[in-house]
Amino acid sequence: MFEKKLLERFVKYARVWTTSDPKSKETPTTPGQWDLARMLEAELRTLGARDITLTPHCYLIARIPANAPKPAQGFLAHLDTSDEVSGKDVHPVIEESAAGGVVVKSGGATLLGADDKAGIAILVTAAEWFLLHPEVEHGELEFIFTPDEETGKGLPDFPLELIHSKTCWTIDGGEEGEVEIECFNAYRALVSFEGRVIHPGNARGILVNAALMASVFAAMLPRSESPEATDGYYGYYCLMEIKGRQDEAHIELILRDFTREGMERRLAALQAIARAVEAQFPGGKVTVKTEPSYFNMKEKIAAHPEVMERLTKAMQTLGMQPVLKPVRGGTDGSRLTELGIPTPNIWTGGRNFHSVDEWVSVREMDSACRLVIELGRL
Ligand SMILES: [Zn+2]
Repeated sequence: MFEKKLLERFVKYARVWTTSDPKSKETPTTPGQWDLARMLEAELRTLGARDITLTPHCYLIARIPANAPKPAQGFLAHLDTSDEVSGKDVHPVIEESAAGGVVVKSGGATLLGADDKAGIAILVTAAEWFLLHPEVEHGELEFIFTPDEETGKGLPDFPLELIHSKTCWTIDGGEEGEVEIECFNAYRALVSFEGRVIHPGNARGILVNAALMASVFAAMLPRSESPEATDGYYGYYCLMEIKGRQDEAHIELILRDFTREGMERRLAALQAIARAVEAQFPGGKVTVKTEPSYFNMKEKIAAHPEVMERLTKAMQTLGMQPVLKPVRGGTDGSRLTELGIPTPNIWTGGRNFHSVDEWVSVREMDSACRLVIELGRL
């Protein structure tokens, strides 16, 4: 129904270089995100949107006022693409897939950027539909385009005070039908090792080697609970960095688990490993500091059963059932949910994100666009 428009828009947005930079301290972390935000601002204005805000940190919000007494809803997609693969000079290749239907692939040298330019194309096309159909009743609709989702750096500058919606949806998922309302609980841990140094020739019974303590600590992490050994609902410990010398050493780890109890077990395990290392290195000291990064949104979404009821109803209108899938990561939605706005994640039709093999199905973008329209009307 919207395939032609979605394809045109997607290819146009995919060509804009919006790779974000996790090392930058600014929001947005790269100037290319402004190029896309300004392109969208102009396009939405041409389509007839009148209430448009572009914040100093590159958050673009386009509103369509309510024409019926229904609650406001927000729809989000992110402007940036992952820096894991180049996103410069993207040349989208349009092909007829073996299974039928048009797909867009990357030329092979770059990512495609369906994560999340497919989401952007879906939202602009849905906004256009509402602007062309003023007779259709809906509450206020907020279309929100965010910078730096991939780096996670944008959220402190998220203009929460500007958002009217009590429910939002991110359009940032994969396969058609998949809806994500569960994500990891995430912690970061910094472990410090203090040793005692002396000339190795006179070291017996005195030297406490902090570098060695750190390597023993790392070796005691359960390898059956690493990212490479787990999937689905299994959490993990992931060693991110290890550095040190004889006098002191440091380890950085991330911990992931879907349940609170599982996360508490992991946090306690780090303390137990610290004590076991101290027991092996008399005189040495191990300190574990942990901090949460984000939490599983499941409980907070479950506290608002009407959100999933609305989604199920909208999908049934399209002849579909939600396929619930846990996200082994976090999204803008998990952070918004944490802040009190339940925000499930909806598919875009994209696959193989953050790689040169990325592709997107135009038919699945179309079903996501029709879902956004159904949600907007409910
Ligand atoms: Zn994304």
